[in-house]
Amino acid sequence: MARVRLENVTKRFEDVTAVDDVSLEVEDGEFVTFVGPSGCGKSTTMETVAGLTKPTEGRVFIGDDEVTNLAPKDRGVAMVFQNIALFPHMDVFENVSFGLRLRTYDDDEIRRRVESAAEIVQLEGMLERMPDELSGGQRQRVAIARAIVRNPDVFLMDEPLANLDAKLRVHMRTELQRLHRELGTTIIYVTHDQAEAMTMSDRIAVLNEGRLQQIAPPLVCYNEPANRFVAGFIGSPSMNFAEGTVTNGHIETAHFDVSLARAAVPETAVGDEITVGIRPEDVHVAENADVLDEPSEPIDVRTDVLEPMGDEVFVYLMLTDSADHSMEEDPTSSSDQLLMSVTPDTEIRENQSVD
Ligand code: ADP
Repeated sequence: MARVRLENVTKRFEDVTAVDDVSLEVEDGEFVTFVGPSGCGKSTTMETVAGLTKPTEGRVFIGDDEVTNLAPKDRGVAMVFQNIALFPHMDVFENVSFGLRLRTYDDDEIRRRVESAAEIVQLEGMLERMPDELSGGQRQRVAIARAIVRNPDVFLMDEPLANLDAKLRVHMRTELQRLHRELGTTIIYVTHDQAEAMTMSDRIAVLNEGRLQQIAPPLVCYNEPANRFVAGFIGSPSMNFAEGTVTNGHIETAHFDVSLARAAVPETAVGDEITVGIRPEDVHVAENADVLDEPSEPIDVRTDVLEPMGDEVFVYLMLTDSADHSMEEDPTSSSDQLLMSVTPDTEIRENQSVD
């Protein structure tokens, strides 16, 4: 087990800055997920830890040692990638033990390690199967077992579940959490899937355009996002944003007021201009207003599009109250729209006026 530390790591590829001055520390035994949109630098950051990429600037530490210039094999890390490359002509035992044979462990030690890893990933009884006799999930478990037998200080996992179908991904999520609990090894995990990040991680590191936006436990990123990017990226599918001005006890926006008491905002002063973010699940139909802790002002809207998702329905609302921000002026303005999430039994129709 080991701590991992990045100190002002920057990686440039000619004119692209893939990683921009990232400093962070992953504690010994911690599960930290790098999350962010495609191209934000997650893989490149992880590759600087693996030793597959050398930073242009900055330093990488594993445990107490600087490893910036060490080869991958000398870093005590094991990687699991999205593309599971098993040797097709080798059975599971041979695939899992391949790296150990290169390191000339004796046969007893190899068998002991492979059997123990197979037990952890629940592949006992399958060691003689060939890769084409395995399901996608089982193949991914072979890849994880191959990393486990090396007994690494740090696991580095780059979108390991990306090629699995949705149901299996959810199942493997719980398996990876169990694996982390059982092994207690430091894990750095890369994904663009925020559900994976939210459910598995001790902390998530949110990246955008190569820069670290926030590193914090998932619910802290959700409830106290460091900036607008994190607010929009973490959590519900689309955060509603509106520009507002702080008045006495309220934030006034073009279409509605938000009580300051209900908003998780840092210190504000009257007159401050701030952006309000409202999650779709925090927008309620007026009939339900009495379930709220505090009374809130209803707002006039017209339902536009309904998206039934099974367990919830996304309702796109057009805000209709403001004459000076009429929809005709700017039909695409996002501040004239509000996204609401309701339960499937809520009675709402398209083109309905609600207040
Ligand atoms: P992510 O993993 O978040 O999708 P990457 O770390 O793969 O992002 O890439 C970050 C940026 O660096 C992207 O703009 C990508 O095109 C660029 N990049 C990554 N690897 C290379 C490379 N070997 N050569 C040139 N550009 C690269």
